[in-house]
Amino acid sequence: MAIDRSSLDRAVDDAGPDLSALAADLHAHPELAYEEHRACGSIAQALERAGLSVERELGGIATAFRARIGSGAAPRIAILAEYDALPEIGHACGHNLIAAGALGAFLALARHASELPGTVDLVGTPAEEGGGGKIRLLDAGAFRGVDAAMMYHPYDRDILSHPALATVRLVLTYRGAPAHAAIAPWDGFSALTACMETFRLIDSQRVHFRDGVRVHGIVTDGGQAVNVIPERAASVFLVRAPTLGELERIHAIVERCARGAALAAGVEVEIEARQGYKNMVNNVTLARRFGAALESLGRSPRETDPSVGSGSTDMGDVSHAVPSIHPYLAICDEGEALCHQRAFADCAVSERGFETARVAAKAMARTTADLLEDAALLGAVREEFTRQRRS
Ligand SMILES: [Zn+2]
Repeated sequence: MAIDRSSLDRAVDDAGPDLSALAADLHAHPELAYEEHRACGSIAQALERAGLSVERELGGIATAFRARIGSGAAPRIAILAEYDALPEIGHACGHNLIAAGALGAFLALARHASELPGTVDLVGTPAEEGGGGKIRLLDAGAFRGVDAAMMYHPYDRDILSHPALATVRLVLTYRGAPAHAAIAPWDGFSALTACMETFRLIDSQRVHFRDGVRVHGIVTDGGQAVNVIPERAASVFLVRAPTLGELERIHAIVERCARGAALAAGVEVEIEARQGYKNMVNNVTLARRFGAALESLGRSPRETDPSVGSGSTDMGDVSHAVPSIHPYLAICDEGEALCHQRAFADCAVSERGFETARVAAKAMARTTADLLEDAALLGAVREEFTRQRRS
């Protein structure tokens, strides 16, 4: 017998006050990447209060966890929770609401655990903000055997299938020769000149970038004394692109600019590339099914919205491994605030934010039930995933 969808909704509503309290508590105690001990503990306690067991330190990561319900057999669906915050601006990305929504969906499905024709995992994924928690979990095999993965993210509008950019972080360190900046500047080779020239050369290349590419950098060392020609200078760039192919091309351009600037200034440059996140490959078949659930709950999501920019997420890496969705749901009016702004942090602890977490929980619970019960849907999701991997 099919799982009663309205019973899933009721279960989310029943858990509503606890979900809001959890979201508010996480918001009041923001924790940075890999330090989310309190958040992790609170979610685990909520699961245990519901009689569910929690596998802590998933993949050897202190602040990752997993809970599992259902038959243990395939298909297996993963619902992902994030809970890390940002330095200075706390939960300005609303990950406290991601955690509440994921927990709500899982608790609702847990009420029907004995009826589930498959398995559902709640995966606690730390350190989305730069720490790549999901990449470490992927490497540890946490998504092996998962047929589809889903999460939602707070935003200023409802979008089902929004891009997220692939990234690579480049640390550029220049080494020249110091000299007194007044007595004998001709004896020096300025590392800072090369550092600044790199920014200008990159700007000169923007005309060749494809739409959606982002290259943004900061100077992390511009010298230490104004009367010394700087011997050392350093910058960090984040290179982002809609596809891994374009990322590779832009990465090469930025390296070329750094080497050209170093050559011109007569200094050395050391380039360190650090793996970033992969672009998000949205499974549109699954995103549309999630959208249908949202519509039945009274929301009017857009499939895409090119008028709003894209960030990056380690869910992109998950989406290259298993069929995935990462829809966005409004917690404020369109244009009122966006992720990483202080005003957005306020929205992440508002009644409207809590309401969105409940809607997301219901939609994820329904979509998960659809995936478990509807073999044709899962087949179509897999087929799209295979097609995307070939292209
Ligand atoms: Zn975020």
